[in-house]
Amino acid sequence: MPEGHTIHRLARDHATWFAGSPVRVSSPQGRFADGAALLDGRILEGTDAHGKHLFHRYADGQIVHIHLGLFGRFFVHDSPAPVARDTTRYRIVGPERSTDLVGATACELLTDDEVEIVLARLGPDPIRTDADPDRAFAALQRRSVGIGRALMDQKVLAGVGNVYRAEVLFVHGIHPELPASALGRERFDALWATLVAWMRRGVRERRIITTDPSEIGRPRSRMRRGETTYVYRQQVCRRCDSDVRRYDLAGRWAYVCESCQPLPGTVAA
Ligand SMILES: [Zn+2]
Repeated sequence: MPEGHTIHRLARDHATWFAGSPVRVSSPQGRFADGAALLDGRILEGTDAHGKHLFHRYADGQIVHIHLGLFGRFFVHDSPAPVARDTTRYRIVGPERSTDLVGATACELLTDDEVEIVLARLGPDPIRTDADPDRAFAALQRRSVGIGRALMDQKVLAGVGNVYRAEVLFVHGIHPELPASALGRERFDALWATLVAWMRRGVRERRIITTDPSEIGRPRSRMRRGETTYVYRQQVCRRCDSDVRRYDLAGRWAYVCESCQPLPGTVAA
């Protein structure tokens, strides 16, 4: 599943390519045919992202809400656009580029009020400059589940996925099973600052890199597969060479180095 930085990147790219002039909108697959008919020829005024939710704001208050889910993705073409594959739910054609959305969990027209309902269910998004970390901290304080599980809850923090989750807990030495409510304010603030820095950089660089170039021995731009994370999808910890433990946490793999991230009350073997 894409993490929040991917959605923010899409929002920026779509604004760059399409905003400000009328676009052609269609739904070759047909499931968004009514919405597309309403939008076709309108001006896309702007885009927005909150966590894993993407919004396209068209003239006259029409808003498209997109959630990619596990399988959704946008394909991009230079204009003129090729014949669309028949699974294309939502196609936008601008003067220079076009994009085709396939496989998304949600692609729908929403009213302002309905958008507010979607946003009200989401915690603060570290990429957004209007994010309020106090809300995330308060939500964690109310949860007795492990911090690893709580971080994936979009009501607590919006946009954090499996990679950032595993890595941010690693660099702060926090075991995913530490009760969320046991994370003190100081450690939360440090964790939040890391997420802000990583996720905003992820938007710019279009990839997730959490390792420090000085530890890897090459700049981020030249890092190879397997060098970009400390524990995520690693067999051994990149820092201490201990085995990385992988286990199922609410349907997603958690990765933890139990030497670098001991549970309080336990002693690393
Ligand atoms: Zn380690």
